[in-house]
Amino acid sequence: MKDYKMETKCVQGGYTPGNGEPRQVPIVQSTTFKYATSEDMGKLFDLEASGYFYSRLQNPTCDTVAAKICEMEGGTAAMLTSSGQAASFFSVFNVAGCGDHVVASSAIYGGTYNLFAVTMKRMGVDFTFVSPECSEEELNAAFRPNTKAVFGETIANPALIVLDIEKFAKAAHSHGVPLIIDNTFATPVNCRPFEWGADIVTHSTTKYMDGHGAAVGGCIVDSGNFDWMKYKEKFPGLCTPDDSYHGVTYAEKFGKEGAYITKATVQLMRDFGSTPSPYSAFLLNLGLESLHVRMKRHCENAQAVAEFLEKHPKIEWVNYAGLPSSKYYQTAKKYMPNGTCGVISFGVKGGRANAEKMMKNLKIAAIETHVADARTCCLHPASTTHRQMNDEELVAAGVSPDLVRYSCGIENAEDLIADLEQALAQI
Ligand SMILES: *Cc1c(COP(=O)(O)O)cnc(C)c1O
Repeated sequence: MKDYKMETKCVQGGYTPGNGEPRQVPIVQSTTFKYATSEDMGKLFDLEASGYFYSRLQNPTCDTVAAKICEMEGGTAAMLTSSGQAASFFSVFNVAGCGDHVVASSAIYGGTYNLFAVTMKRMGVDFTFVSPECSEEELNAAFRPNTKAVFGETIANPALIVLDIEKFAKAAHSHGVPLIIDNTFATPVNCRPFEWGADIVTHSTTKYMDGHGAAVGGCIVDSGNFDWMKYKEKFPGLCTPDDSYHGVTYAEKFGKEGAYITKATVQLMRDFGSTPSPYSAFLLNLGLESLHVRMKRHCENAQAVAEFLEKHPKIEWVNYAGLPSSKYYQTAKKYMPNGTCGVISFGVKGGRANAEKMMKNLKIAAIETHVADARTCCLHPASTTHRQMNDEELVAAGVSPDLVRYSCGIENAEDLIADLEQALAQI
């Protein structure tokens, strides 16, 4: 599959059935796997042989779907997780533990921010958050001797800031640490962060990859490019023997290509158990089969809606990287020449009250906390997810009281525009 184009990988990647085998990816709904001898199974426990023994660690359906995403991103190894949150957590915790430090872009998903700034901090991992628009000097100044990784988001949810991936990769590599990129909003169809120097990619597959609001899930992909052994002293977890696996040294035994995902699977998945169900992986695969077709339509619809809103007299501002007026237009053109995503944010004149009123009048777009779905949905953070904040606190958090997040689905763009038009006419 390696040499095929994205569209072919979306449809056929990860799975090549043999003669007389199922055409569709089989759902292996089994917690466990049978062996003839204890010796056979023992080899799996020692990581001397590869195979399945318990679905908390690995399952054939999940691995098949992970292999497809791995091909789409251009990586060397990948694993599915039960959610995007689990993927974000594992991706960092696999290389940074108590006493370590991580540099992260401040423009990241709220759930990730909380995971890093509150929960992982409680576990002893310190984070420094830097503006994605900081200078190289400011970025370099955020590193410490105990820094183990850099984390950012291709297109931040919900701020929609487009990351300068090369700038972050350069800083990470000059300090001998990997760059981890959450590529949820762009998907590999629109951006492949490995091509710009990222080392690890994560996804909330709950969003566009699933695309139908059917299954929560996550994925981690390794580019296979980061040379852990070169920075041995920084990454003892990968470069020194693991007593819980009879002294295996991941970076030696599995090389650059396999060490990171093997360690995350056999240590983190074993101990934390954030396993996706085979059935959820199957649903995710159905979504992936049409991802390339849907992303194109999401972007076309978002472009049309953003252009309509920008000209509307009742709209104060529109944030969409596909608009030439956007601060991120040039960055998006570089990293995502075929389009960014289907999510737009905008401000309604008259602030909070009018934003709420307009949304109440929408007939196609449903009010949901979800984004990146085949069905158009929208959210008014000030009166929902961020309702505990007053207007001043909202502005400080980058969420103005009038902000509406509007996630364009794959319906007809003229219908979406007419829906917005009638809703705006009523305020
Ligand atoms: C939703 C989301 C997550 C968290 O994923 P879940 O699947 O909800 O756990 C992480 N990153 C981004 C960019 C997201 O949009």
